[in-house]
Parts: sequence; structure tokens; C-alpha cells
Amino acid sequence: MNHIISGAMLPDGTITDLFVADGVLVDEAPSGAQTIDAQGLVVLPGLVDMHTHLREPGREDAETVESGTLAAARGGFTAVCAMANTQPVTDTAEKAEHILDLGEQAGHAQVVPIGAISEGLKGERLAELALMHRSRANVRMFSDDGMCLMDAQLMRRALEWVKPFGGLIAQHSQDSQLAGPGACCHESEISGRLGLGGWPPVAEAVIVARDVMLAEATGSRVHVCHISTAEGVDVVRWAKRRGIQVTAEVTPHHLLLGTELLEGYDTTFKVNPPLRTSEHREAIREALIDGTIDVVGTDHAPHAPQDKDHAFVDARPGMLGLEQALAVVMEVAGEELGWGGIADRMSVAPARIAGIAGQGRPLAPGEPANLVLVDPSARAVVDKRESASLSRNNPYDGLDLPDPVRLTMYRGRITHQR
Ligand SMILES: [Zn+2]
Repeated sequence: MNHIISGAMLPDGTITDLFVADGVLVDEAPSGAQTIDAQGLVVLPGLVDMHTHLREPGREDAETVESGTLAAARGGFTAVCAMANTQPVTDTAEKAEHILDLGEQAGHAQVVPIGAISEGLKGERLAELALMHRSRANVRMFSDDGMCLMDAQLMRRALEWVKPFGGLIAQHSQDSQLAGPGACCHESEISGRLGLGGWPPVAEAVIVARDVMLAEATGSRVHVCHISTAEGVDVVRWAKRRGIQVTAEVTPHHLLLGTELLEGYDTTFKVNPPLRTSEHREAIREALIDGTIDVVGTDHAPHAPQDKDHAFVDARPGMLGLEQALAVVMEVAGEELGWGGIADRMSVAPARIAGIAGQGRPLAPGEPANLVLVDPSARAVVDKRESASLSRNNPYDGLDLPDPVRLTMYRGRITHQR
């Protein structure tokens, strides 16, 4: 199907018509095209998520590649990077190719497999990083996310291994002694009062500090997943000024939601790292605006009810994110970032950092037709039942938020429209 998208506003404010033929943007109206009226809408390059948990293989009751990429399309995403902590873990070339094939079969968004850094996420021996890279999956990003890679020597070796092909090591920064398995609440007056294990900001900052020094020593690239603290941001800012190749990501939930939500022990709000206080939220918001934080990553983490219906300390950490990510970014920083800034933090920068060809590209002739049409003014109350995800751990349920995504197009095909 060929398309004419008429009267859309580009991120720079220009009003234009876009022409799509055979999955690619072209410079004149193709024959037999269907017209999409985009008057009053903004067109952005399709969003790219560097941090998605699709749960397949192993926990298809919580999410599948099919359902997760449908949720992605509803959120305006045309590419998602699939975290390696599935069952089994994505730690071989064969498993990475399997994820790639599942994504191609589903077809709702590009699925980019992330390889584990260590075998089985155990943090003991490196996984076959080079083989994963040389496979059909062409893995360029590696992470043990869910676990922090604590062994500094292993981290150093991983950085050295990926350097020749410009690979990226993405770290879940959580010192496992300072914030152990029982740490589930931002360490504060609230954690004390609620009797929940404290997760202090320094547990993040010390790992970020160690890793940027290892990145400097090896000349390789490190990415900080879901940064959540003012201290962590300060370290990244210092490292960038020093010329170290570090990038950082923030989640929508850390930008919008706070520690006080834990007062009712609702496990929907249990996430790792935990929701922080307003001082930290303001620090990460400012860092996203000034570019110290490069990207928004959703950390979309679907969980089945049987994994959330527990005492707070025993419930699984994680919350949904794909469908409301753009809404939350518009809500907390839309004015300061502008459309160009939003396109950069949610599409251009993640595609560049993760090395995903054909995504995060300018909306120009010759480029793949990966785009999202956005209504800049619509709002709605979030209803967690209205979701393509198989899970319902949506922390925004009941909130009045922007409701921007009108149409998502992936390789010239409409993957979501309303
Ligand atoms: Zn993580």
C-alpha cells in the first residue's frame, strides 16, 4: 500500500506532505496511494526503545513478541531492543537469531535482540559476544539488565571485546552490596516508616563511576540503563565533560512517579531502581533536557498477576511503559524539549547509540517509512484495560495524560491507527 500523508508538521515546524511507496519515503506522490489526513498533527520518526522486556521465550503468559510489539506500535514505536533476561537467557548467537526471527514473524516493529554480557546473566563468564555480533542477529548491544555486572574485570573484558565492532555495553547500575536483593524502596524516611529495604542513590552512583572509568581505560562505550539519581547524573555529566564515551537513559516512570506511591504497598509501583523523590526526579528531568541523559528507554516490564500479587518485598519489580512513554515525556518535558528534542531523545539518539540502521532517520526521500503521527493536544485518562500488552501492571492507570499517538507506520505499513 502506498500513502500520501498530507499536511503534517515536521519536528522543525515545517508543514509538508510525505509520500510513501513500497515502504520508503519518496519525493513525489505515488500512484494508487491512500491519503492520510494529517492536518494539525506532528510527524516524528518512529520511536525507538533501547530497553524493552518482551518475556518471550519463557514467560509468554506475561508478554510475547507479538503482544509486546503491538503495544510498541500503540505507543508510536517502530523499533524495540529486546532485553536478554528471558528464559532461556539470550546469551548465544542461536538464541539471538531466534528473537530476531520472532520479531520478523510478528512484524509490528523491528525487534533488535540484546545479547547477555555474561553466560546466563550469572556474572561469572563472558557470553559469546563476538559470535552474537557476527550472527544474522548482528548484535551490537549487550546487557545483563535485571542484574548488575559486579565483576570489574569481567566488565573491562566485555568493553574490550565489543570495542572492535563499536559495540555497546549497557549496565544495570546497582551495587549488590549497597542495594541487595531486599532493597525495594528509595532509602528515605518513607522506606524506614514502611519497613521496606532501602535502595540508596549511592548504590547506583558508585557503579556508574566505576564503569565510566573502565570505559575511559578501554576506549570503549558504556551505556547507563534507567538512571534514577541526581548523583548518577552528576557522574555522567563529569564523564562526558572528560570525553568519556558514556550514554545514559531515563525511564518515563522515573520522570513522573515518586516514592510516595509506595505508601499503599501497591506492588504495581515496585520497580528497580525504585521510584525516587522529587529532588531526584527534577535532576533527571533537567539532565534529559540538557542532553546529559541521551535517551528515554521504557524498561517496559510486563508481569503476570501471580508475580505481582505478593507482599511488597516478594513481588517482582517492573512496570509497563511502551504505550504511555511519549505521553509522559510530553507531560514532564514537552515544552522544554520541543518536538525536535523529543524526536532526538526517543528516536534519533537511541537508534544511533544502539546502532540500528533505518531507524531514527530524517523524514526525507530515500529513508524507510518509519514514523508516528502525533496529536499535540489530545488528553485522556489512562485505562489499564485498554492495552495490547498481556499484562496489566500499568502505573499510569487512572492518570490524566496526553493521548498523542494517532498512527504508527513501520516500513510503510500502518501498525496502529485510531
Ligand atoms: Zn534494569
